[in-house]
Amino acid sequence: MSESNNPQLEALAAEALAEINAARETVLLDKVRVNYLGKKGSITQLLKALGKLPGDERAAAGAEINRVKQEVQSALEHQRVALENAELAARLASEKIDVSLAGRGRPQGSVHPVTRTIERIQMYFEQVGYAVAEGPEIEDDYHNFEALNIPAHHPARAMHDTFYVSDFIGGASQESEAVASSNDIKYVLRTHTSPVQVRVMENSEPPVRIICPGRVYRCDSDLTHTPMFHQVEGLVVDEHVTFAHLKGVIQSFLKVFFEKDLAVRFRPSYFPFTEPSAEVDIACVMCNGQGCRVCKNTGWLEVMGCGMVHPNVFSHVGYDTEKYTGFAFGMGVERLAMLRYGVNDLRLFFDNDVRFLAQFS
Ligand SMILES: [Zn+2]
Repeated sequence: MSESNNPQLEALAAEALAEINAARETVLLDKVRVNYLGKKGSITQLLKALGKLPGDERAAAGAEINRVKQEVQSALEHQRVALENAELAARLASEKIDVSLAGRGRPQGSVHPVTRTIERIQMYFEQVGYAVAEGPEIEDDYHNFEALNIPAHHPARAMHDTFYVSDFIGGASQESEAVASSNDIKYVLRTHTSPVQVRVMENSEPPVRIICPGRVYRCDSDLTHTPMFHQVEGLVVDEHVTFAHLKGVIQSFLKVFFEKDLAVRFRPSYFPFTEPSAEVDIACVMCNGQGCRVCKNTGWLEVMGCGMVHPNVFSHVGYDTEKYTGFAFGMGVERLAMLRYGVNDLRLFFDNDVRFLAQFS
């Protein structure tokens, strides 16, 4: 600012420059501009007042005021650019996206280990040509017991701690109702999925090659038993079916299911609906047959029951027992899942604790 003989003008200029420097936002800066250079601004007013000065003073005073006006204008412009740059930088900083930041994952659900195990079993048998069959969970006494060679008062009924359903109406076929109505108790919650096999054989001719996955019920609850659990049973009926076929099917299934070249053994056993019958053991998957707590130091784990279909079962469904033979097998899904995934308490499958279930995602 050059020397001036107008102290009032100089004071105004200093005040304007101070206000410009103090303005921290473009909106405020614009107010300062209007106050000094607007239509009614103080510098504009001074210029307007020039006409009232005597002629000889007018030119000098005009030059002084214009000089101050330009000074203020350039200061305004300078500050405006500075503020705009700062505001842009601030906006860019606030809107900045850090592309290197890890994404926020959404929790994903998982398939229940029991369902997953059924799917694994089903996938294997479907690949080797078995069809999947399903049936009612409330079953009549005939299909659950009678047709499977377990007549009333047969001691094997005691092995099945049965839930009886006294007030169930409908659901079963008419002829089975006729048979069942001769007993006091008509319906049960099925104790195994074997009645599904009976229903399939009643409605189709051999060859039969099916698996029956589903829920079954027994009046039993402790560390290793729950009132409801899952089974997968299989049935093959054709001419010339032998125990060797059964052995081959079971061995290759267990190998695929456990993804291990396991030792498998068949132990003679008894089921009313198969003859001969066997229990299938595998070398303990926890200790590789060395002996541990899980296998009670035997090195073996029982995984399923099986056998050649009893001719009495074929007679009930009208199959020619001279022409056809067949085998059946049945396994507990929870038991296989526990061994496959190393779960030590059956009840974990039914607690629905997400911390447990999430481990199977
Ligand atoms: Zn073991």
